[in-house]
Amino acid sequence: MADLQEAFYSAAAMLGIEAPIEAEWKKLAGLRAKAEYRQGKIIVKASDGYAAGGRDVLVGLALSLLSRLFRKNPAQNAYIEAYKSFLRSRETNLLHRALKNERGRKRRLTAKGRFYDLAEMTSKLVSEYAILQTLPIPKLGWSRKSASRRIGFYDEDAHEVVITKALDSKSVPFYVVEYVLFHELLHAKHGIIQHATKRTVHTRDFKKEERDYAFYREAEKWLKQTGWKRTIEALPLLQL
Ligand SMILES: [Zn+2]
Repeated sequence: MADLQEAFYSAAAMLGIEAPIEAEWKKLAGLRAKAEYRQGKIIVKASDGYAAGGRDVLVGLALSLLSRLFRKNPAQNAYIEAYKSFLRSRETNLLHRALKNERGRKRRLTAKGRFYDLAEMTSKLVSEYAILQTLPIPKLGWSRKSASRRIGFYDEDAHEVVITKALDSKSVPFYVVEYVLFHELLHAKHGIIQHATKRTVHTRDFKKEERDYAFYREAEKWLKQTGWKRTIEALPLLQL
């Protein structure tokens, strides 16, 4: 495996930082790295996934973390460029997901709630809406706590739809739950479009299909009146 310590010493030298460095690979569930300055020492922990990028990427990672830590102007050089293009590449995205799937904590999902059964509701939606018929059905479940601020979300890494338990109640109309589920299934269908630094989830096509839902107006009205915010969704993939 590439030498993380050496990459950090090289980057520190470029930035004019002199301190002992302890850099360690960690088997993390995804691509993450951090650098801290403690008792005169620089301590680095980085996901072993970065090793796939090679030395230039590691020096770029080190330059980016160290310049932030020591409030230096980040160098604009070939290492930083290598690091940025590594982060933007599709292979890196797939690697991040694979690490998350393999090592991440698994949710235990239950589709059958007290009032509503998300599996049944999904079958009904799939039979009624042609736009959902090619979708590989995601795993479905209610959130464990009803206090969730998110009404629902689609986790693309795990191919899972989670709906807040607060909606599993007799005071919530069927069409509201069905609409939120429909919205999340559409996310599963469209996927998350990844741009260099921004993620677009509600595209024009998405919104057009969302309005196909038979009780779209009624459900939107109910969500507005009850104060549910539609600030849903998808967890950030990579922190750039
Ligand atoms: Zn959404």
